[in-house]
Amino acid sequence: MKHINLLILLISFLWLGSCAEKNESDREQKTLPVHTATEQNGENRYAEPEIHKVPDTPSPKDTSINLTPAAVKVSKAYLIGKFNYETHPDFIKIEKIHTNKYGEAYLRKEAYEAFKKMYEAASEDGIKLTIVSATRDFDRQKEIWNRKWNGKYSHIQIPEKRAEAILEYSAMPCISRHHWGTDMDLNELTNTHFENGEGKKVYEWLTLHAHKYGFCQPYTPKNNERPHGYNEEKWHWSFLPLAVSFLKQYQETVSLNDVSGFDGAEVKTTLNVIEHYVGGINKDCKEY
Ligand SMILES: [Zn+2]
Repeated sequence: MKHINLLILLISFLWLGSCAEKNESDREQKTLPVHTATEQNGENRYAEPEIHKVPDTPSPKDTSINLTPAAVKVSKAYLIGKFNYETHPDFIKIEKIHTNKYGEAYLRKEAYEAFKKMYEAASEDGIKLTIVSATRDFDRQKEIWNRKWNGKYSHIQIPEKRAEAILEYSAMPCISRHHWGTDMDLNELTNTHFENGEGKKVYEWLTLHAHKYGFCQPYTPKNNERPHGYNEEKWHWSFLPLAVSFLKQYQETVSLNDVSGFDGAEVKTTLNVIEHYVGGINKDCKEY
Protein backbone atom coordinates (compact mmCIF):
# COMPACT_ATOMS: atom_id res chain seq x y z
CA MET A 1 0.00 0.00 0.00
CA LYS A 2 2.79 2.32 0.95
CA HIS A 3 4.41 1.53 -2.40
CA ILE A 4 1.19 2.33 -4.28
CA ASN A 5 0.91 5.71 -2.52
CA LEU A 6 4.47 6.50 -3.40
CA LEU A 7 3.82 5.50 -7.01
CA ILE A 8 0.72 7.77 -7.23
CA LEU A 9 2.73 10.62 -5.73
CA LEU A 10 5.50 10.05 -8.26
CA ILE A 11 3.07 9.92 -11.23
CA SER A 12 1.34 13.14 -10.05
CA PHE A 13 4.69 14.85 -9.74
CA LEU A 14 5.75 13.82 -13.23
CA TRP A 15 2.38 14.87 -14.70
CA LEU A 16 2.53 18.32 -13.13
CA GLY A 17 6.08 18.69 -14.34
CA SER A 18 5.11 17.90 -17.91
CA CYS A 19 2.21 20.43 -17.76
CA ALA A 20 4.57 23.08 -16.58
CA GLU A 21 6.92 22.25 -19.43
CA LYS A 22 4.09 22.41 -21.91
CA ASN A 23 3.00 25.81 -20.60
CA GLU A 24 6.52 27.03 -20.86
CA SER A 25 6.75 25.69 -24.36
CA ASP A 26 3.46 27.44 -25.30
CA ARG A 27 4.77 30.66 -23.88
CA GLU A 28 8.01 30.11 -25.71
CA GLN A 29 6.22 29.81 -29.03
CA LYS A 30 4.21 32.96 -28.39
CA THR A 31 7.27 34.93 -27.42
CA LEU A 32 9.48 33.67 -30.21
CA PRO A 33 8.66 36.31 -32.77
CA VAL A 34 9.12 39.16 -30.27
CA HIS A 35 12.65 40.42 -30.41
CA THR A 36 13.13 42.37 -27.19
CA ALA A 37 16.21 44.01 -25.82
CA THR A 38 16.47 41.34 -23.11
CA GLU A 39 16.50 38.63 -25.75
CA GLN A 40 19.24 40.47 -27.54
CA ASN A 41 21.21 40.45 -24.30
CA GLY A 42 20.73 36.72 -23.99
CA GLU A 43 18.48 36.95 -20.91
CA ASN A 44 15.54 35.16 -22.43
CA ARG A 45 16.09 31.56 -21.51
CA TYR A 46 13.40 30.35 -23.92
CA ALA A 47 14.97 31.89 -26.93
CA GLU A 48 15.99 29.47 -29.64
CA PRO A 49 19.15 30.32 -31.54
CA GLU A 50 17.12 30.57 -34.78
CA ILE A 51 15.29 33.71 -33.73
CA HIS A 52 18.51 35.70 -33.69
CA LYS A 53 19.21 34.86 -37.31
CA VAL A 54 18.90 37.76 -39.69
CA PRO A 55 16.36 36.64 -42.27
CA ASP A 56 17.90 35.92 -45.63
CA THR A 57 17.45 38.74 -48.09
CA PRO A 58 14.84 37.49 -50.55
CA SER A 59 16.61 36.65 -53.78
CA PRO A 60 14.97 37.82 -57.00
CA LYS A 61 13.92 34.20 -57.45
CA ASP A 62 11.55 34.53 -54.49
CA THR A 63 10.12 37.19 -56.70
CA SER A 64 8.48 40.13 -55.03
CA ILE A 65 7.10 41.40 -58.31
CA ASN A 66 3.39 41.91 -58.52
CA LEU A 67 2.15 39.17 -60.81
CA THR A 68 -1.55 39.71 -60.30
CA PRO A 69 -3.25 39.54 -63.68
CA ALA A 70 -3.64 43.12 -64.76
CA ALA A 71 -6.98 44.31 -66.09
CA VAL A 72 -5.48 46.59 -68.72
CA LYS A 73 -7.97 47.51 -71.41
CA VAL A 74 -6.51 48.17 -74.85
CA SER A 75 -8.03 49.16 -78.19
CA LYS A 76 -8.43 47.08 -81.31
CA ALA A 77 -5.82 49.28 -83.04
CA TYR A 78 -3.40 48.41 -80.23
CA LEU A 79 -4.04 44.68 -80.55
CA ILE A 80 -3.29 44.69 -84.29
CA GLY A 81 -0.16 46.80 -83.91
CA LYS A 82 -1.52 50.05 -85.33
CA PHE A 83 -0.19 52.46 -82.72
CA ASN A 84 3.13 54.11 -81.94
CA TYR A 85 4.75 52.22 -79.10
CA GLU A 86 7.70 54.62 -78.96
CA THR A 87 5.42 57.39 -77.71
CA HIS A 88 2.91 55.20 -75.83
CA PRO A 89 3.09 56.06 -72.09
CA ASP A 90 3.03 52.41 -71.00
CA PHE A 91 6.07 51.47 -73.08
CA ILE A 92 9.73 51.91 -72.26
CA LYS A 93 12.97 51.68 -74.21
CA ILE A 94 15.02 48.62 -73.24
CA GLU A 95 18.41 49.40 -71.69
CA LYS A 96 21.61 48.60 -73.57
CA ILE A 97 22.64 45.84 -71.16
CA HIS A 98 19.50 43.82 -71.96
CA THR A 99 19.37 43.95 -75.76
CA ASN A 100 21.43 43.83 -78.93
CA LYS A 101 18.84 46.15 -80.55
CA TYR A 102 19.42 49.12 -78.30
CA GLY A 103 17.49 52.16 -79.44
CA GLU A 104 14.79 50.26 -81.28
CA ALA A 105 13.73 47.70 -78.66
CA TYR A 106 10.70 48.62 -76.52
CA LEU A 107 8.41 46.69 -74.16
CA ARG A 108 5.43 47.36 -71.94
CA LYS A 109 6.83 48.68 -68.66
CA GLU A 110 5.33 45.83 -66.60
CA ALA A 111 6.85 43.20 -68.88
CA TYR A 112 10.24 44.91 -68.82
CA GLU A 113 10.27 45.19 -65.00
CA ALA A 114 9.61 41.45 -64.77
CA PHE A 115 12.25 40.73 -67.41
CA LYS A 116 14.86 42.72 -65.47
CA LYS A 117 14.22 40.63 -62.35
CA MET A 118 14.45 37.45 -64.41
CA TYR A 119 17.65 38.72 -66.05
CA GLU A 120 19.26 39.30 -62.64
CA ALA A 121 18.27 35.88 -61.32
CA ALA A 122 19.58 34.27 -64.50
CA SER A 123 22.87 36.20 -64.22
CA GLU A 124 23.33 34.89 -60.67
CA ASP A 125 23.08 31.39 -62.13
CA GLY A 126 25.57 32.20 -64.90
CA ILE A 127 22.89 32.52 -67.59
CA LYS A 128 22.96 35.46 -70.00
CA LEU A 129 19.66 36.64 -71.46
CA THR A 130 19.56 39.10 -74.36
CA ILE A 131 16.44 40.50 -75.98
CA VAL A 132 16.96 40.23 -79.73
CA SER A 133 13.45 41.37 -80.67
CA ALA A 134 10.68 42.97 -78.63
CA THR A 135 7.70 45.05 -79.73
CA ARG A 136 7.00 45.16 -83.48
CA ASP A 137 4.22 47.26 -84.92
CA PHE A 138 2.04 46.57 -87.97
CA ASP A 139 4.42 48.37 -90.35
CA ARG A 140 7.48 46.45 -89.16
CA GLN A 141 5.64 43.12 -89.37
CA LYS A 142 4.39 44.08 -92.85
CA GLU A 143 8.00 44.69 -93.98
CA ILE A 144 9.02 41.24 -92.76
CA TRP A 145 5.97 39.58 -94.30
CA ASN A 146 6.07 41.29 -97.69
CA ARG A 147 9.80 40.65 -98.02
CA LYS A 148 9.26 36.91 -97.52
CA TRP A 149 6.10 36.87 -99.65
CA ASN A 150 7.87 38.48 -102.61
CA GLY A 151 11.31 36.99 -102.01
CA LYS A 152 12.28 33.73 -100.34
CA TYR A 153 8.82 32.15 -100.71
CA SER A 154 7.69 33.74 -103.98
CA HIS A 155 8.31 30.46 -105.87
CA ILE A 156 5.34 28.86 -104.08
CA GLN A 157 2.46 29.44 -106.49
CA ILE A 158 -0.54 28.60 -104.34
CA PRO A 159 -1.10 31.62 -102.08
CA GLU A 160 -2.28 29.56 -99.08
CA LYS A 161 0.78 27.32 -99.31
CA ARG A 162 3.07 30.33 -99.61
CA ALA A 163 1.49 31.89 -96.53
CA GLU A 164 1.70 28.64 -94.58
CA ALA A 165 5.42 28.41 -95.34
CA ILE A 166 6.00 31.93 -94.01
CA LEU A 167 3.73 31.27 -91.03
CA GLU A 168 5.96 28.46 -89.83
CA TYR A 169 8.01 31.09 -88.02
CA SER A 170 6.72 34.55 -88.95
CA ALA A 171 3.40 36.14 -88.11
CA MET A 172 1.17 37.97 -90.51
CA PRO A 173 0.80 41.66 -89.74
CA CYS A 174 -2.18 42.17 -87.37
CA ILE A 175 -1.86 38.74 -85.77
CA SER A 176 1.53 38.95 -84.03
CA ARG A 177 1.88 38.83 -80.26
CA HIS A 178 4.89 41.10 -80.75
CA HIS A 179 2.37 43.92 -81.36
CA TRP A 180 1.33 43.80 -77.71
CA GLY A 181 4.56 44.79 -75.93
CA THR A 182 4.39 41.63 -73.84
CA ASP A 183 6.43 39.28 -76.01
CA MET A 184 10.13 39.02 -76.73
CA ASP A 185 12.66 36.86 -78.51
CA LEU A 186 15.70 35.85 -76.48
CA ASN A 187 19.31 35.20 -77.50
CA GLU A 188 18.99 33.43 -80.90
CA LEU A 189 16.25 32.75 -83.42
CA THR A 190 16.92 29.05 -84.03
CA ASN A 191 15.77 26.03 -82.02
CA THR A 192 19.09 24.25 -82.60
CA HIS A 193 20.89 26.99 -80.66
CA PHE A 194 18.87 26.00 -77.59
CA GLU A 195 19.53 22.28 -78.01
CA ASN A 196 23.30 22.25 -77.37
CA GLY A 197 25.92 23.77 -75.11
CA GLU A 198 25.28 27.21 -73.64
CA GLY A 199 21.98 27.60 -75.48
CA LYS A 200 20.69 24.40 -73.93
CA LYS A 201 21.59 25.67 -70.47
CA VAL A 202 19.73 28.90 -71.17
CA TYR A 203 16.64 27.06 -72.36
CA GLU A 204 16.68 24.68 -69.40
CA TRP A 205 16.98 27.66 -67.05
CA LEU A 206 14.04 29.40 -68.73
CA THR A 207 11.82 26.33 -68.63
CA LEU A 208 12.55 25.97 -64.90
CA HIS A 209 12.37 29.61 -63.81
CA ALA A 210 10.67 31.92 -66.35
CA HIS A 211 7.19 31.22 -64.97
CA LYS A 212 8.22 32.75 -61.62
CA TYR A 213 8.51 36.07 -63.42
CA GLY A 214 5.29 35.64 -65.39
CA PHE A 215 6.86 34.37 -68.63
CA CYS A 216 5.65 31.47 -70.74
CA GLN A 217 6.72 29.91 -74.07
CA PRO A 218 3.63 30.17 -76.31
CA TYR A 219 5.02 28.23 -79.28
CA THR A 220 5.82 24.74 -78.04
CA PRO A 221 6.04 21.67 -80.33
CA LYS A 222 2.79 21.02 -82.17
CA ASN A 223 0.85 18.00 -80.99
CA ASN A 224 -2.74 16.91 -80.30
CA GLU A 225 -3.14 19.66 -77.73
CA ARG A 226 -1.64 22.27 -80.07
CA PRO A 227 -2.48 21.13 -83.59
CA HIS A 228 -2.28 24.57 -85.25
CA GLY A 229 -0.08 27.64 -85.24
CA TYR A 230 3.55 28.57 -85.65
CA ASN A 231 6.27 25.95 -85.22
CA GLU A 232 8.07 25.61 -81.94
CA GLU A 233 10.07 28.71 -80.95
CA LYS A 234 12.32 28.13 -77.97
CA TRP A 235 13.33 31.79 -78.06
CA HIS A 236 9.89 33.43 -77.85
CA TRP A 237 8.62 34.28 -74.34
CA SER A 238 5.45 36.06 -73.35
CA PHE A 239 4.58 38.04 -70.21
CA LEU A 240 1.33 36.40 -69.16
CA PRO A 241 -0.03 38.83 -66.54
CA LEU A 242 -0.83 41.13 -69.48
CA ALA A 243 -0.78 38.80 -72.48
CA VAL A 244 -3.53 36.49 -71.21
CA SER A 245 -5.86 39.47 -71.00
CA PHE A 246 -4.73 40.83 -74.38
CA LEU A 247 -5.42 37.47 -76.01
CA LYS A 248 -8.94 37.43 -74.57
CA GLN A 249 -9.54 41.00 -75.71
CA TYR A 250 -8.19 40.09 -79.15
CA GLN A 251 -10.52 37.13 -79.50
CA GLU A 252 -13.47 39.30 -78.42
CA THR A 253 -12.78 42.35 -80.60
CA VAL A 254 -10.64 41.51 -83.64
CA SER A 255 -12.17 39.73 -86.63
CA LEU A 256 -10.71 38.48 -89.92
CA ASN A 257 -11.99 41.69 -91.54
CA ASP A 258 -9.43 43.61 -89.49
CA VAL A 259 -6.56 41.51 -90.86
CA SER A 260 -5.63 43.36 -94.04
CA GLY A 261 -3.21 45.75 -95.72
CA PHE A 262 -0.37 43.43 -96.80
CA ASP A 263 0.47 41.09 -99.67
CA GLY A 264 -1.55 37.87 -99.78
CA ALA A 265 -3.89 39.02 -97.00
CA GLU A 266 -6.79 37.23 -98.72
CA VAL A 267 -5.56 33.82 -97.50
CA LYS A 268 -6.52 34.80 -93.95
CA THR A 269 -9.98 33.23 -94.30
CA THR A 270 -8.95 29.83 -95.67
CA LEU A 271 -6.16 29.59 -93.13
CA ASN A 272 -8.46 30.82 -90.35
CA VAL A 273 -5.52 32.77 -89.00
CA ILE A 274 -7.09 34.17 -85.82
CA GLU A 275 -8.28 30.81 -84.54
CA HIS A 276 -5.28 28.81 -85.70
CA TYR A 277 -2.38 31.21 -85.19
CA VAL A 278 -3.48 33.74 -82.56
CA GLY A 279 -5.32 31.05 -80.64
CA GLY A 280 -2.89 28.23 -81.49
CA ILE A 281 -0.59 28.56 -78.50
CA ASN A 282 0.67 26.40 -75.64
CA LYS A 283 -2.33 25.91 -73.35
CA ASP A 284 -0.20 26.82 -70.32
CA CYS A 285 0.06 30.35 -71.74
CA LYS A 286 -3.70 30.79 -72.10
CA GLU A 287 -4.41 31.29 -68.42
CA TYR A 288 -2.67 33.04 -65.61
ZN1 LIG B 1 8.89 36.10 -81.38
